[in-house]
Amino acid sequence: MAYRSGGRRGGRGRGGGDFYRGRGRGGGYQQDGYYQDGYDDPQYQHHQPPVLQPARGGRGGQSYYNGRGGAYEPFGRGGRGGKRNAGDTDGMADHGGGPRRRGGQGGGNPLVYCRHFMDGTCQARSSPCGFKHGLLRLGGMPKAHSNGIDAMLIQENPEDSTKPILWTGSRDGKLKMWEMVEQDGSRLQFREKQDTNMQGCNVTSLLYAGDGVFVGQSNGVITCFRLNGQTFTLTGHTAPVYALLMLDDVLISGSWDATVRFWKFDAASQQFGCVQSVPVCSGVKAIANHTTQLWVATIEKIQVLDLSNNGTIGAGFDVPKVMDLLLYSGPSGSFMLAVTLSGHIKAFNLQTGAEEYDQQHSGPQQKIMKLAGLKDPSDGQDLLLFAKDNGWITALELPTMNERGSFRAHNEVEVRSMVSIPALGLLFTAGMDGSVAAWKFVPGGTPPCKAGGAPAW
Ligand SMILES: [Zn+2]
Repeated sequence: MAYRSGGRRGGRGRGGGDFYRGRGRGGGYQQDGYYQDGYDDPQYQHHQPPVLQPARGGRGGQSYYNGRGGAYEPFGRGGRGGKRNAGDTDGMADHGGGPRRRGGQGGGNPLVYCRHFMDGTCQARSSPCGFKHGLLRLGGMPKAHSNGIDAMLIQENPEDSTKPILWTGSRDGKLKMWEMVEQDGSRLQFREKQDTNMQGCNVTSLLYAGDGVFVGQSNGVITCFRLNGQTFTLTGHTAPVYALLMLDDVLISGSWDATVRFWKFDAASQQFGCVQSVPVCSGVKAIANHTTQLWVATIEKIQVLDLSNNGTIGAGFDVPKVMDLLLYSGPSGSFMLAVTLSGHIKAFNLQTGAEEYDQQHSGPQQKIMKLAGLKDPSDGQDLLLFAKDNGWITALELPTMNERGSFRAHNEVEVRSMVSIPALGLLFTAGMDGSVAAWKFVPGGTPPCKAGGAPAW
């Protein structure tokens, strides 16, 4: 039987926007894959149905953003110069750790998520403590790996859909598989199910497609582990493979060797073969697909390949050092979101091809490493999350880019990997110290009751 992906899947049209890095995925989540089978289970439907929020005017006063008019605009244009306070760690790094500042309620920061609420211990039940409520820490692993984690992947558990599987790939040369089990309604426990030695190679990217996990490695090799135990080795790249994408039956890989390769499974020989290799201008860090376009983020600029015309390189964007790309399709259209090592967040309108948003969200010392998208179950708001090299993560509301809040996910280390289950408000982050943490966006107010309360995820 031919090895092929499970077929094309678009967004499910649940009212809000969809996040995805590619179409044609097989079963299960991959990267920011949208709602998949199994998670449609009523058990996971405890949140309110998503509600569109087309106009969010008049919020200028609440946000650090200035000059937001009342009219709906997907992304503000111009006039946004200067640095924002978003993610600025000064004065908020260790909030809540000591005695409350003088001034009582005034000591907090409404744009920083409350650390005590995260752990279910904030005593400010009836009145706000000054920090933002609405994010839980479900658990984590301080030492999932002995070195930095560059790649993660969420996969639906074929044996038990209530126990999603997390894959982590590290610079310690290991690929690990974890089963996640809910405990006490608001905690996640990680159980190591598999530990694979990648023979001295760092894991640089991961993709779940069809019935296999594709592992991009630092030596340029891609290994595919099928669920049935079969293993395939895809050789051709000569430098780390940082990006993987499945489009229909074609695996697309982007490498630091400045090529994008297209692979197909040959049923006769039972092997993957490289059907095409497209040279691009420099090393590839991320790829994303929209219709017949393949966006390729190289260290020099973004190049856009025309998949309907043999991967011909078309117009691109002079944006260097893009670390991650994410496609967002919302009520106001489809956008390619990009983040850079110099701290920029950009949004490109895929209908007009124009760059509609550009903001430097951090200082020069703070690089943005990774993007993820999810829907906040408290109000159905689409969120864009970006992770920085100081361990902080900031949530922006899409498509307005208004800041919702920031939190420190990892202690003064780069967050190089971040995956989400968008419709559930679940986020997984990993640091360069080998740690993994799980997060859940929830309605604010009082922390969930741990005894007999509704499951938090
Ligand atoms: Zn609090």
